[in-house]
Amino acid sequence: MLGTLRILHACRGRSRWPAAALRALQEQQLRAVVAHAYARVPFHRRRLEAARLTPTAVRTLDDLRRLPTTSKQLLRSTPAAELITRGTDPAGCDVVCTSGSTGMPLRILRGRREVDCHRAAGLRILRELGFRWTDRTLEIRAVSGPTFAAQRLGVAPKRWVSILDSPAEQLRALVDFRPQVICAAASTLRDLAVAVLEAGVAPPPLRLIIQDAEPLLPSTRALVARAFGVVPLDVYGLVELSNFAWECEQRAGLHVSADTHLVEILGDDDMPLPPRTPGRIVCTDLLARTMPMLRYETGDWGALATDPCPCGRTFPRIVDLVGREGDVVLLPSGRRLHWPYFHETFARYDELDRYQVIQEELDRVRVRILARPERYQALVDRLAAELGTVIPPAVRVEFEPWNAAPPDPTQKYRPVLTKVRSH
Ligand SMILES: [Zn+2]
Repeated sequence: MLGTLRILHACRGRSRWPAAALRALQEQQLRAVVAHAYARVPFHRRRLEAARLTPTAVRTLDDLRRLPTTSKQLLRSTPAAELITRGTDPAGCDVVCTSGSTGMPLRILRGRREVDCHRAAGLRILRELGFRWTDRTLEIRAVSGPTFAAQRLGVAPKRWVSILDSPAEQLRALVDFRPQVICAAASTLRDLAVAVLEAGVAPPPLRLIIQDAEPLLPSTRALVARAFGVVPLDVYGLVELSNFAWECEQRAGLHVSADTHLVEILGDDDMPLPPRTPGRIVCTDLLARTMPMLRYETGDWGALATDPCPCGRTFPRIVDLVGREGDVVLLPSGRRLHWPYFHETFARYDELDRYQVIQEELDRVRVRILARPERYQALVDRLAAELGTVIPPAVRVEFEPWNAAPPDPTQKYRPVLTKVRSH
């Protein structure tokens, strides 16, 4: 925990540093992580050599582009021993897995340093958003985290609640614990907001509601604000990289924790795109050493804004974050229908309880519909007509009733996903 606090302390004030100072720090950290990866991690050594690079050739942010990007698939197909620092004892590491909703999960090893970095990344975001050490936090997750001695003594006390508990049980915990802060996935917050509104109870006065696990739909944002009187803040990250981007109180995009993570937005030609042009989000973790992450393809899609934010922070912002690159339907013309299109379209159909759009092939899209049986066919007819105005006839749209059990709450709900690779 001391290591966490040390990192947290070092990060203080950096979100408002002048751009030149921030860049100097980033380049210094970049040189350190590349030198480490080259000297001690076989996978990165090989990749740098294949690109005819030595660490001394990577000195500036512009040099970073000479490194190849790294995909999750590539890491998964590489023996774990080659991905981690030589001499690391895996038994002494924390192992976390990516959700694997698009295939096999990837195992990430975190040594003590990375565990501290991961915690510091989360706490730094909370502190930037006004979190006080006396605040009580209710965190709703599939797996409970640790409770530290300091928390039992009243420093940042936290109660863990299971995502598998019913919304009514979660509501009881909320009323009983009276937190100032809630952290949970968007879908959990939505269900809890419905429970609050249906029960007609006044929720405890909250200051912060953080969602950090799924796309935050505009309707969820509005519903949570109505139930709790606080507009939730969106936080973005990946298990592989910790949380590294967060909305400030202006809610004008997500500031990148640029002193710990480097974010690039790349186009189809792998070249960086101009500000506010959406493309693939590629991220380098500047602090991780046990299993370095250099130019990691997040699989997500968004743009970067570098103009000043009204809040005064100088960290760049990810804007138009539309979630995963795969949360999309690709049309044969090359156009992308991102999930907000489907969400906004489907939201107008009250009789539609839940949906999922799965693109199986470039010319075949499956739409699963949860609705009362007597309304199903009429709904399908109307949806088919509406989607037909955007999706060309060459793409077959197949509807099917969603009869299965309710979606597993421990899995991310992805309303839209494609199985077609775009590059
Ligand atoms: Zn801001």
